Amino acid sequence: MGRVIFIGAGPGAADLITVRGARLLAQADVVLFDALTDPALRELAPSAKWVNVGKRGFCDSTGQATINALLVRYAHEVGTVVRLKGGDPSVFGRLEEELDTLHGAGIACEVVPGVTAAIAAAAATQRPLTRRGGGRSVSLTTAMTREGQLHAARTADTEVFYMAGKQLAALSRRLIKAGWAPDTPVSVVSRAGWPDQLHSDHTVAALGRASMLHAGRPTVVTVGAGAAALGSLADVETRSAVAAGVPS
Ligand code: SAH
Repeated sequence: MGRVIFIGAGPGAADLITVRGARLLAQADVVLFDALTDPALRELAPSAKWVNVGKRGFCDSTGQATINALLVRYAHEVGTVVRLKGGDPSVFGRLEEELDTLHGAGIACEVVPGVTAAIAAAAATQRPLTRRGGGRSVSLTTAMTREGQLHAARTADTEVFYMAGKQLAALSRRLIKAGWAPDTPVSVVSRAGWPDQLHSDHTVAALGRASMLHAGRPTVVTVGAGAAALGSLADVETRSAVAAGVPS
């Protein structure tokens, strides 16, 4: 009986995988990979069998059942199965279903973390997700419910929305209803970590304007403290408070 290693490929360019991820990927006999992973990663496991199990959308339960069955089947057939996922496997990656299935079948598993899109976007824009003073908490939120409904809330100083790219105008209205001030900064990044990543700045009220620019690309929407440009008013206030010895 083989083992299954879940590896976070990172958000984009192949070199954003971790060193451990790359080392274990090289040991794979079979790799089940997602649509959002970089084809250049194949060079790390050239003799493995690469199986594309990419599926777009959220409610594809048939696709998920097929992936679960493939994981179990390959784990019985070969020594090392790698399940390569975009970003981090634990963040909106259906890891729960796949681990449940494998644990149920008595198959040994390991999870290797990866750089999730929110973190890649923060790096791309040089906007730290946490800020001393006003940015103490970060929430990773999916904008889509299981039923395909748009959802927005205000649960942290900085809220990062995944899977919202198609509905930015609606998200803007939901955010205002959830209590965000209309002039709250919003940073939108698509294809973070790829050579063609795009970034645009908005306010909550004008977020709909980002739709055209990022259309059809994986996009994260960062709202609140972590979206503010360095040197913007809020940040200057924070830094002077720190300089004056005010605890953050
Ligand atoms: N496990 C992944 C998330 C998978 S859900 C992770 O940790 O990043 C898919 C959503 O992730 C997309 O709808 C988009 O919101 C976001 N996403 C994935 N890759 C991205 C990228 N390179 N740039 C911006 N957003 C990305």
